[in-house]
Amino acid sequence: MSKSGPRLPRLIAFDLDDTLWFPEMYLLIGGAPFRKDKQGRLISSGGEEVELYPAARACLKELATSPKYKDIKVVFASRCHETDWAYTCMDLLDVCDGVSVSQCLNEGGVFQGGSKQGHFAELKRRTGIEYEEMVFFDNERWNITEVKKLGVTCVHTPNGMQAGQFEKGLALYAEKWA
Ligand SMILES: [Mg+2]
Repeated sequence: MSKSGPRLPRLIAFDLDDTLWFPEMYLLIGGAPFRKDKQGRLISSGGEEVELYPAARACLKELATSPKYKDIKVVFASRCHETDWAYTCMDLLDVCDGVSVSQCLNEGGVFQGGSKQGHFAELKRRTGIEYEEMVFFDNERWNITEVKKLGVTCVHTPNGMQAGQFEKGLALYAEKWA
């Protein structure tokens, strides 16, 4: 650890479906139009609620507001086919007062089919950041296995983002450079 604390990644990528939020878009019976109800909940046309995992909300907020994370690019890497729905959900889900998920994912992200290795090749091309300087969270083991091969620090989140997993990702990353 240096004086300024453990080494931080330059880029953090999150899967969307069942990593940041649930249910997965393809499981929704109704999709667009989405609306916010009086309690601020995001509701599909089928009456289903789309929710952020509390730990996902907490780490997105932390990344968006803590000065120590200000140089980290935060992105998504998703294989979701319902991309319009996903963009709408990112716009309508709030992380904290006046800050949406879209605003936290300040560098946008990629939607692609196939292996997530392709997503990371695109993220690397776009940002100029090496795989070794990235951290990735995803609920699917296959994605984790594939992306790990590139040299990205990966955390498997089989039940969506849970308390401690964000910190685990940062700790694994820092250990790699220790
Ligand atoms: Mg997923």
